[in-house]
Amino acid sequence: MTETTNLYIDGEWVPAEDGSTFAVENPADTTETVTEYAKGSTEDAQKGIDAANEAQADWEGMPAPDRGTILRETAKLLEERKEDLTEQLSREEGKTLSEASPEVQRAIDIFYYYAEKAADNAGTRKGPSGGRTSVYTKREALGVAGLVTPWNYPIAIPAWKIAPALATGNTIVLKPASAAPGPAASIVQALEDAGIPDGVINFVPGSGSDVGAELTSNDGIDAVSFTGSSEVGHHVYDAATDNMARAQAEMGGKNPAIITDSADVEEAVDIVGAGAFGVTGQACTACSRAIVHTDVYDEFVEGIVEYAESIDIGPGVEDLGMGPHVTQSELESTLEYVDVAANEGATHETGGERLEGDEYDDGYYVSPAVFSDVERDMRIFQEEVFGPVLAVTEVDDFEEAIEASNDSDFGLSSSVVTDDLNEAHEFIERTEAGVAKVNEKTTGLELHVPFGGKKDSSTNTYREQGDAGLDFFTEIKTVYLNT
Ligand code: NAP
Ligand code: MG
Repeated sequence: MTETTNLYIDGEWVPAEDGSTFAVENPADTTETVTEYAKGSTEDAQKGIDAANEAQADWEGMPAPDRGTILRETAKLLEERKEDLTEQLSREEGKTLSEASPEVQRAIDIFYYYAEKAADNAGTRKGPSGGRTSVYTKREALGVAGLVTPWNYPIAIPAWKIAPALATGNTIVLKPASAAPGPAASIVQALEDAGIPDGVINFVPGSGSDVGAELTSNDGIDAVSFTGSSEVGHHVYDAATDNMARAQAEMGGKNPAIITDSADVEEAVDIVGAGAFGVTGQACTACSRAIVHTDVYDEFVEGIVEYAESIDIGPGVEDLGMGPHVTQSELESTLEYVDVAANEGATHETGGERLEGDEYDDGYYVSPAVFSDVERDMRIFQEEVFGPVLAVTEVDDFEEAIEASNDSDFGLSSSVVTDDLNEAHEFIERTEAGVAKVNEKTTGLELHVPFGGKKDSSTNTYREQGDAGLDFFTEIKTVYLNT
């Protein structure tokens, strides 16, 4: 019999109020036994919110170093469990072990990082404004945070929201993505084992339109941190701010890489290939547009097609080059974009086929696709695909490359491959993206620096990670102390 992972509310693992459950299948092999989760409702979300409100003052009142100790213990437990967590992630989300393992390590490192930050976030003291009045600022928790996360980084993203929220004295109700809730449940388990007080973290899996909507619009929520699609994110942001909660939504991307005529084409192929096809293209920062100078265009197209065709595809736990899509609907969405691109008149160079036969029949496998001769008004140039599909566009010069790269509603990550320092600087100045990378792939982030997008990729309220994560979860009180 399949074991059910329950909700975690006020320090207890409990079934959903109405007894509902939902199943999560292994995208690499849908015949395999699935994992089952309690399916929370809006009533369950409300219980989580109540518990979090009840627990908040004591949690914020706890000495900050003690909060840090719980985060550090959590990191240690996650580290001890790293191998199991890596396999769990791969079996639910589909990415390869070589991709899942650094993501788990990222979550561990995030808990260590914010453990140290917990005691380091008090405010600043200023000189007296006159007489004996001292003036200082004091950072305070916002209160209760509603966290809603996507399936594609199912342990790193919950970690980079949970850890700064807890470090700063907030309590939490978390709703993980329904396609891969397991890794977030494992974080909650580690927090419990590390001794987190009852009610400080509450975990309510369930549907986005029920639990997700409740956590982002309920009166008892003071901060909303959402990562996911632009469509849902804009809606969530409106609901949260209507309710006067502080809100951030980090959303989709259509991330470009510019290949200039000074680029080493072999290096450019490796940078674009890793960014486009890593994690099956299911990254918000995935490279989905290569904008290539005409002098190196043919060589680049030939190289990237060869790169795509050389990738071995199979179950994530077999750790080949690329795993499956996470769900059938994500698979279908990618296949649909392949049709759209072909019908729009882009040149179909390779890939984009559902793989069949033997082990492929029971999983959501697609070969990585490359389209060339892509024009800026095509949907394949403008819309987020969220699969291993690369659009290649030819440009005459660097100026046209910059314009094409910025010709997008999105602005998350961007990259340039060049040997020319002037071009590198020009790109850094002018790229309309929250992350600018020179001679590096669009994917891959450091945890101690802010991360977020521009334009429709982000609400641009606050960044995540680094010190920005602490800023989002705190507000400032200014104190005048006349003794
Ligand atoms: P999604 O469909 O927008 O879902 C994200 C989360 O929102 C899930 O937990 C979902 O629940 C929930 N949700 C759905 N409808 C909701 C509603 N009406 N109110 C509140 N919550 C709701 O995104 P996804 O498919 O999980 O993830 C892929 C997207 O995330 C891509 O667009 C990608 O670019 C983006 N992403 C962005 C970043 C970044 O940092 N910028 C990072 C990673 C991913 P269910 O799962 O139950 O539907
Ligand atoms: Mg989705």
